[in-house]
Amino acid sequence: MSRYFPETFPHQWLPENLELKTWEQVEPWYKKLMEEPVSSAGELERWVVAAGELNAAVGEEGVERYIAMTCQTDDQEREAAYLAYVRDIEPKLKPIQNAIRSRYLDAPYRSELPRDRYFVFERALENRRALFRDANIPRETQLAELEQQYQKTIGAMTVTFRGEERTLAQMAPFLEETDRVVRQEAWELSARRRLEDREALDDLFDRMKQLRIEVAGEAGFANFVEYSFRHRERFDYGIADTVRFQEAVKRVVVPLMRQIQERHKRALGVETLRPWDLAVDPLGRPPLQPFEDVERLAAGTETIFREVDLDLGEQFSFLRSRLLLDLANRKGKAPGGYQTTLEDKRLPFIFMNAVGLDSDVRTLLHEGGHAFHTLACRGEPLSAYRECPLEFCEVASMTMELLGARRLDPFYNSADADRSNRKLLEGIVLILPWIATVDAFQHWIYSHPDHTREHRKAAWRGLLDEFGGMVDWSGHEDARDHSWHRQLHIFLYPFYYIEYGIAQLGALQIWQRSLSDRAGAVADYKKALALGGSRPLPELFAAAGIRFDFSDRLITSLMETIRGELEKLNP
Ligand SMILES: [Zn+2]
Repeated sequence: MSRYFPETFPHQWLPENLELKTWEQVEPWYKKLMEEPVSSAGELERWVVAAGELNAAVGEEGVERYIAMTCQTDDQEREAAYLAYVRDIEPKLKPIQNAIRSRYLDAPYRSELPRDRYFVFERALENRRALFRDANIPRETQLAELEQQYQKTIGAMTVTFRGEERTLAQMAPFLEETDRVVRQEAWELSARRRLEDREALDDLFDRMKQLRIEVAGEAGFANFVEYSFRHRERFDYGIADTVRFQEAVKRVVVPLMRQIQERHKRALGVETLRPWDLAVDPLGRPPLQPFEDVERLAAGTETIFREVDLDLGEQFSFLRSRLLLDLANRKGKAPGGYQTTLEDKRLPFIFMNAVGLDSDVRTLLHEGGHAFHTLACRGEPLSAYRECPLEFCEVASMTMELLGARRLDPFYNSADADRSNRKLLEGIVLILPWIATVDAFQHWIYSHPDHTREHRKAAWRGLLDEFGGMVDWSGHEDARDHSWHRQLHIFLYPFYYIEYGIAQLGALQIWQRSLSDRAGAVADYKKALALGGSRPLPELFAAAGIRFDFSDRLITSLMETIRGELEKLNP
């Protein structure tokens, strides 16, 4: 059997095995880079690759410290090492990156470089230079501190339930309990705890909002909406397109969401659907149990990938053999899951907290898709092109969730596989309106910069009426009015959320095609992944055989296919 043994990529400019752990070790290399003579187009190309090499090596130091810290958060040395990178190295890199950008953009030989090859690269650099303001660095530092405060406030929320102090994340499993009284108690306890901090969170948000408006103004923008679209490098779509996305979701997806909730309500046999009725299995079955130990999770997921595509299975087997996965939940590990890239080695790393749930399988399929993306563009010499816009990164990952959900036999019998697949498809229908709500809300916030808290609350309430399902919140209106406090993106990554919706439309198109042409769908998927970030979004989508399109027509076709698949699945 062939095994996946990827080649290595030796440095062309930077010596190998250099220690770049402190600013004293890092700085001379940037000095040397900036002093390097560049007197032809060919030298300029080599210089850009050299800059990317140095950035990747310095960046990898930060990534390694981040991985080490999240794998063991109760180790103070690891935390100190990571914070030292964030405090001592990262801020000093910012002006240097700006100088590198300027040197490239002002180079006299730039116009001789092939336009088609460098167009996407230059577009991003020109944009970053245009947005960069020294005066915004302290504001960004202040924002980072407020953002950390948000995370602390949320992380510190605990309740006492059944005699034990629990975080709100630890309360989530009780919302899947079949006993409705238990669910209600768990939900109300969490909701009350969140509301205790509503003033603090609103204060925090108002301060963030003010700073963000200042950042936008400093950079010469009329408002933070326009600034964000530039800052998030949305070159291939604009404000009007995202509004079109919101409208299409409202017309096409919200009705299907309400049908799914109606069906859920009938199956549960309840009069009205309450906020604590949403996560439970409607037929009262216990949670799915796909695996007991993470070795089984990894082996089963590899089998699925092999079924989707032999070559992707080989790649996953390589990640396992190189220990590029840390899957098991254990004490001291940070929550959640992520895929990150060791930029210098050009290898992916997958982190998650598997405990044996259905969602763990989905998470690993998802992060596996990101890892395939990293592996697919390893050979790209320009480091900037080994990164890809998020709107397409998530196509890589979400596609694997969808394609994998049809091949779950390593974990389930066919009835359970159907149940898991149904959960995925219904989840997609339910999340799209939420994405539209969160996006529309932020458009409102930053285009009404002087609003009061009461106005903001009313705006949120109005959006929930437009995009919300048929959940009965009576008696809990306060929790409903503040439910945006839970959406960390609004606090930490303003406007960054619709990317998931755009990517979902892409992944659904690949999945739709795979129902009749799996081989073709996967072949184009891999072709598009290999382009990394070297082409604009519409071209990446086109390479994957799909359209970059937010129209009613496209979304209607996707929802029809989902409806059809749901009808075929066991309940
Ligand atoms: Zn992802």
